[in-house]
Amino acid sequence: MANYISYSSAGHHLKDSGAIGVNGRQENHETISFRDMVNAELIKLGRTVVRDKDTETLGQYLGRINPTDKDVVVEPHFNAFNGKASGVEVLIADNANERSKAMAKELCDGYARIMGIPNRGVKTESQSARGKLGLMRKKGAVCLPELCFIDNPSDMAAYDRNKVNLACFTAQVMNKYDLN
Ligand SMILES: [Zn+2]
Repeated sequence: MANYISYSSAGHHLKDSGAIGVNGRQENHETISFRDMVNAELIKLGRTVVRDKDTETLGQYLGRINPTDKDVVVEPHFNAFNGKASGVEVLIADNANERSKAMAKELCDGYARIMGIPNRGVKTESQSARGKLGLMRKKGAVCLPELCFIDNPSDMAAYDRNKVNLACFTAQVMNKYDLN
């Protein structure tokens, strides 16, 4: 296996809560924990992993990483809206390459299947509420999953029941798209 790099980050550090969800759950705690589960699996698969530090801003992380065309860059987040919106979506760059599109679709379809929640599909950053994303300016197969809605109790219950499977699945898909 060639030594390409999986960039697997949480996107929110300890002082950046991100979205607040049911029962006061904070997006940063969820993404840090999920990132660590994914990375443990990637390491088992023999991958070299780069991640953000829990004290580092997203800007600091993006400023120090330099993925190549052969690497993968995945940063799962949680969506939030009105407490009722449900489902998974995966964001890609407006000018995403074919590997990014294929990886995003595979992740989105798999997350919806594993959790049994609506598949909202792959969206470009312009189609999303987030607008332009710094992560999307990086080379490689790049996507930003919004795993489910952190403010929807049934979405989070589905996430809690399945997070180990979701982490293993994420690592397997990243391993597949990391060119070797
Ligand atoms: Zn987020």
